[in-house]
Amino acid sequence: MGLNNVTVEGYDYATPVEDAQIGQIIDLDLGEIPTAKTLIGGQFYQDLVDNRVQIVERMNSGNPRYLCAECLTPVYLVSTPDKRFFFRHRSEEDDSCSAKTRPPLTAEEITARKYHGLRESQPHKHIKSLIERSLAADADFSDIAVERNWKGADSRRYRRPDVQAGHLQGKIAFEVQLSTTFLSVVAGRRAFYRREGGLLVWVFGSFDAGYRRLTTDDLLYSNNSNIFIVDDETTELSERTGIFHLRCHYRMPVRDDAKITDAWAEKVVPFADLTQDRDGQRLFLFDFHAADAALRAAIQQEADDAKAMAIRIDQADLYEFWLEHGRSFRHTPENRASWRQLRDRYERRGLELPEFPDSHEATRVMLSALYSARDGKPMGYKFSKLVQVAHQVAEACPSLFIAFYSAVDAYGHNDLLNSQDGSGKWRQRLKGADGIFSRIKRDDPVFQPEGSVLPLIYFLFPEISDRVAAAVDRYRDSLF
Ligand SMILES: [Zn+2]
Repeated sequence: MGLNNVTVEGYDYATPVEDAQIGQIIDLDLGEIPTAKTLIGGQFYQDLVDNRVQIVERMNSGNPRYLCAECLTPVYLVSTPDKRFFFRHRSEEDDSCSAKTRPPLTAEEITARKYHGLRESQPHKHIKSLIERSLAADADFSDIAVERNWKGADSRRYRRPDVQAGHLQGKIAFEVQLSTTFLSVVAGRRAFYRREGGLLVWVFGSFDAGYRRLTTDDLLYSNNSNIFIVDDETTELSERTGIFHLRCHYRMPVRDDAKITDAWAEKVVPFADLTQDRDGQRLFLFDFHAADAALRAAIQQEADDAKAMAIRIDQADLYEFWLEHGRSFRHTPENRASWRQLRDRYERRGLELPEFPDSHEATRVMLSALYSARDGKPMGYKFSKLVQVAHQVAEACPSLFIAFYSAVDAYGHNDLLNSQDGSGKWRQRLKGADGIFSRIKRDDPVFQPEGSVLPLIYFLFPEISDRVAAAVDRYRDSLF
C-alpha cells in the first residue's frame, strides 16, 4: 500500500471534461444514444482505459462501436493531461458536424440523423431479422422484404420500412423502434401508409410498463395503448407453429370508485388475433378506447342514478313531513329540529324553505295545494274533497291557481274534480262569463304566478314545471 496504488484509482469513476464538443454518442452495440457524460462517467477508470483501446481498434477495422450522434462519424476517446475524457471524431476533414463550425442543423435534422444512425445498430438489425424470420414462417404473409422502397401509388414519394410484407388485408410496414425519442421523425409516416391503404406497425425490442415516460408517449396512445414486441422467444414460437406471433403489452382501464386508473397486461398472441385499423393506423389486441369509454359511461350512469336517488329522497322526506305537520305545525323542539334538518338539506340544493312550516303563507298554501292536487285528495286542509281545495285556492290564493290547475291535470285528477262538482259551481267558476279561464287569457294580474315559490315548485313537481314556467313567461311579457 503505497502512493502508487493503481487499484484504488482504477475503481474510481472516470471523469468527463466539462464542456465536450461532442455531446451525444450513438452506441451501435446497444442501440442507445447516451450522452458522452453518462457514457464516460458511468465506467470505472480502469474499464474505460481498457475500452479505449478496443474502440480505436474497431474504428480502424471499419466496425465502429460509437458514432457522433450528430454527424454519424465514428468517434474515439481522448484524455486530457489531467485524465479527463472526451470523444473526438475520427476525422474532421469533411467538417460535416455542427459540433465544430458549420451553421447549426435544425433540431429536426439532428433528430433525423440520430434516428438513421441508430438503425445501423446491432439491436435494430437483430429485431429486423427476427421480424423477417417470423413473417417467413407464416403462409399468411407474402412478398417479405427488408429495407425495400415502398413507392407511393400516386406520387414520387416513397418510404423504406425496415420490413414489409403482403397480407390478406393489405400490405403492412414494420418499423423497429428502439427508443421513443424519435416520434417526430416517424409521426409523418402514418399519413403516407394510410393513403397507401397500408398499415404501419411499430415493433419494439423490449418494453417496461414501469418506465413511465413511455406510458405517456404519443406512440402508445395513438396505437390504442398496445405495444408490440418481436423477440427471440416469439420468433421461435412463430417458426415452430408456422403462425406469426407477437408479444403484446397493453394498457387496461381499471375502475377505482369514480376514477379510472390503468394496469398493464402482457400476452403472446397470433397476428391474426389482432385488430387492424387501417384508417386509424392502429393495430391492437385490446381495445383500450372502447373499454375506457364503457367504464366512463358506467361511472357517469351511477353518478346520475345516485343524484336522482338523493333528489327523490329529499322530495319524499318533505312530503312525509307535510303529511304529518302540514295541517297544523306544533312548535315543539323536536318538530322544529326536524324542520331545521329539512331546511338545511334543501339549502344545500340552493332551495329556500321558510324558517318554519307556517311562517310563509305562499309556501304553506303551495305545498298543501299541490300535494293535494297530486294525491287527488286534500292534504294540509280540513277538507274532505279535492274540489273544496280547488275553491279555496281560487278564492284565497289565485296566484297559485295556475300551478294548482296544472297539477290536477298533470296528475290525472280532472275527472275526479269534475265528478266532485255536483253543484256545477266549479265549472261555473272556471268557464263562466268572466270566469277564471277568460281572465287568465286576458292576463289578469291576479293570477300571475307567485314568484317566491317557483324554485320549490320546479323541484318538487317537475311534471308541471314547463306549464308553470310558460305562464310565468307569458305574464312577464304581457307586463312589459
Ligand atoms: Zn459529429
